[in-house]
Amino acid sequence: NGVIHIIGAGLAGSEAAWQAAGSGARVILHEMRPVRGTEAHQTGGFAELVCSNSFRSDDATQNAVGLLHEEMRRAGSLIMREADANKVPAGGALAVDRDAFSAGVTAALEAHPNIEIRREAIETLPPEDWENVIVATGPLTAAPLAEAIRALTGEESLAFFDAIAPIIYKETIDFDIAWMQSRYDKKGPHAQETGGDGADYINCPFDEDQYAAFLNAVLEGEKTEFKDWEKSTPYFEGCLPIEVMAERGPDTLRYGPMKPVGLTDPRTGKRPYAVVQLRQDNALGTLYNMVGFQTKLKYGAQTDIFRMIPGLEKAEFARLGGIHRNTFLNSPKLLDASLRLKARPALRFAGQITGVEGYLESAAIGLLAGRFATAEAKGAAPAAPPPTTALGALIGHITGGHVSDNHGKNFQPMNVNFGLFPEIEIPRTDSQGRRIKGKEKGFARKRALASRALSELGPWLEKPSVATE
Ligand code: FAD
Repeated sequence: NGVIHIIGAGLAGSEAAWQAAGSGARVILHEMRPVRGTEAHQTGGFAELVCSNSFRSDDATQNAVGLLHEEMRRAGSLIMREADANKVPAGGALAVDRDAFSAGVTAALEAHPNIEIRREAIETLPPEDWENVIVATGPLTAAPLAEAIRALTGEESLAFFDAIAPIIYKETIDFDIAWMQSRYDKKGPHAQETGGDGADYINCPFDEDQYAAFLNAVLEGEKTEFKDWEKSTPYFEGCLPIEVMAERGPDTLRYGPMKPVGLTDPRTGKRPYAVVQLRQDNALGTLYNMVGFQTKLKYGAQTDIFRMIPGLEKAEFARLGGIHRNTFLNSPKLLDASLRLKARPALRFAGQITGVEGYLESAAIGLLAGRFATAEAKGAAPAAPPPTTALGALIGHITGGHVSDNHGKNFQPMNVNFGLFPEIEIPRTDSQGRRIKGKEKGFARKRALASRALSELGPWLEKPSVATE
């Protein structure tokens, strides 16, 4: 019957509804608030920002989030239109007046002739005669629906107490101090497929004084407090935050994630007092995560404290650590390239529930889902955005279509970042023939990635779907 049902009018669902209705599709948008609330939302408004009011950097020339802003503007995004219309001063970041922003999104959707709004909770899986559905119910998806999705996908769990370890850009690690080695030079069972050669980990060595100073900083560092509703969710003993381990005693970390056994520092020929290990996080080998370093230290404290780690003095972070409840699918395994559930293709997913992290990223996946659903409603096949764009890199992370991480095994939500983009060659010298090096090289690379993305976005925007025979 051509109608697209969208469940949830958060960041993703609102954008999906706007994109679909704007291309002429008929949309029914189901939102449970204010009839039923969540643990974090405060209002009945659409696209409510539950925490910070920032959409982060607005620099499209050399920041991946800023680039995503620009791509979404060019794609006619409602979230970006209202963010731009309601911005407040925030330096290079795009921050908004959250109430005016949400009111703007709500009014635009309410006024759209192709959209019908129903304020109701969808308690179970949608009926079979809803043939084209977008589920955009977010990290706090109401329990009965989350449970029904879990049963349908056969996964053990959908709601996680999310312990996130920080991720670092490899190029910012100092290899005059750090070195590559696996514990006991082990090659591991997957050495053949992964190209592992017994030197898979990056190791950062501590002497006794450095370890003592680091431990002290972790104990003293400012932590995020748990919300009341988060307190009832237990820790898994296997992924305790580092500060909880540090509190248990001075050697707990040194016998836990920071243990130095089986490692030899090539510069001293000895085993260090303690180490931090980093493990490759994406197939390109541009991102490394800090093994066992989940934490609820505040972001500012994390960057200060983790730069005390020998070799990470100048580290740049693609993602910082964190802990909160989160509901997300094992998307690389469960979803197809156009975000449909393989087990039931009438259901398409969007937003944080697909395993992206952040307001903008959630809205971006909503934008794609809205376009994909519209193509399908018109009997065409959706065309994926080029993998070189921010939109393409982001969907590649969750569906595994373009760039694959440790997909399926240990899939973790992520913000958009340049580590998800295919590499680009940049000239070795500038226009005056001087060698480009150090920081300049990093800037040049980001500028090149951003400019390639915008030039390859245009043709896709003009042809968002391909006809099926
Ligand atoms: P949401 O925006 O949550 O939208 C989901 C919508 O679905 C809601 O309106 C909800 O009411 C509705 N819904 C749920 N179940 C049903 C149902 N069964 N029937 C009908 N409607 C339903 N990201 C940032 O970038 N910055 C931050 O500061 C930030 N802070 C966060 C703090 C917390 C506590 C959490 C949980 C997440 C935070 N995030 C933050 C992450 C994320 O970006 C946001 O959660 C974002 O809102 C996700 O967008 P979404 O559209 O997927 O979900």
